[in-house]
Amino acid sequence: MAAIRLKPGRERSLLRRHPWVFSGAIQSTEGDPVPGGTVDVYSSEGQFLARAAYSPDSQIRLRVWTFEDDPVDHDFFRRKIAAAIHARDTYLHENESDSCRLINAESDDLPGIIVDRYNHTLVLQCLTAGAEFWREAITDLLIELTGLSDIYERSDVDVRLLEGLPQHHGPLRGKPNEIITLQENGLKFKVNLALGHKTGFYLDQRRNRQRLRSFASGRQVLDCFSYTGGFSVNALVGGANSVLAVDSSEDALSLAQENASLNSFSETELQILCGDVFQVLRKFRDEARSFDLIVLDPPKFAPTVSQLEKATRGYKDINLLAFKLLRPGGILFTFSCSGGVDAGLFQKIVASAALDAGVQAQILEHLSQAPDHPIGLNFPEGAYLKGLICSRQ
Ligand code: SAH
Repeated sequence: MAAIRLKPGRERSLLRRHPWVFSGAIQSTEGDPVPGGTVDVYSSEGQFLARAAYSPDSQIRLRVWTFEDDPVDHDFFRRKIAAAIHARDTYLHENESDSCRLINAESDDLPGIIVDRYNHTLVLQCLTAGAEFWREAITDLLIELTGLSDIYERSDVDVRLLEGLPQHHGPLRGKPNEIITLQENGLKFKVNLALGHKTGFYLDQRRNRQRLRSFASGRQVLDCFSYTGGFSVNALVGGANSVLAVDSSEDALSLAQENASLNSFSETELQILCGDVFQVLRKFRDEARSFDLIVLDPPKFAPTVSQLEKATRGYKDINLLAFKLLRPGGILFTFSCSGGVDAGLFQKIVASAALDAGVQAQILEHLSQAPDHPIGLNFPEGAYLKGLICSRQ
């Protein structure tokens, strides 16, 4: 097996069991590792540290499969995948749901591998050269260990470009339907596996959508960045007086309306508005419109720390406008899914937005990603979704 030796002192993060090695930490390479192949990793003093997948094109050159001296083979993946699936027994059918994340990459000790289960269909996303290398074995094992037969692949994400991998998506095994219906917290949602964002649906917001229900009764709700109506439909179920969903994607909004009718609401009960949330919020401010409950669930503004300044401005802007549109006693559900913005910074941004909007507000609850999207204790990067429920005084 090929072997990689690190520069002096660069073994520290591996000793803390963080699974990444950057290219700059590498002293020398013995043998001829293939993209995605497994390599042994040694300290500068020759101590065995880990067995990892090799990504020759990426700054993150190595991602650890194991810190033990274990073979990385079919059986290894069987054990890891079985453990991840078993850990979801508690969540898969939680609160009348039939869908959840089965494998959450680094946080399940399976770097680069995402698997979501939507009812009886699995969706696989391979993000890294290592995941791609083991793709067939992973696919076989998913079928063996879940007893399901339909797998769709969504390996069409930008991070693959950094790994020198092509984009591909489509049916992988069996005959997966491209449009499926899942159940979440007792509600039905249609998901487009071929064209939807990520693997089709934002499963990570499951518990937060449920939480929104308890705040919705009798309120006028504005759901910004609504996508296919996850929060909007929950607001309707919670007894909202009216719900307006805003998104820049017409396709997402028309699916949101279908999702409202799937759950027995009429098309007029869910109002939709296609547009740029930044502009819509400004327009509403100029028209002196107001709401009792506002959801802000924007896309990633800062995938990495380098876009932090622009992202901070973006979050500040929408949160400031939302506070201005909130009536006294109103509730704000505000989120950031940017890896580059941590929970502390996000809270500061929201606090300064309230200050500049001239309103007094309190935090009622801190929110995070659903527990089927666990966060490896040694992998803080896994804590990407932060949310606050704030109330305006
Ligand atoms: N809240 C949703 C997920 C939101 S994902 C849920 O629970 O399912 C982010 C959404 O923001 C996407 O649907 C995307 O189309 C939309 N979007 C991105 N930039 C936007 C912008 N500037 N204005 C309006 N919508 C935007």
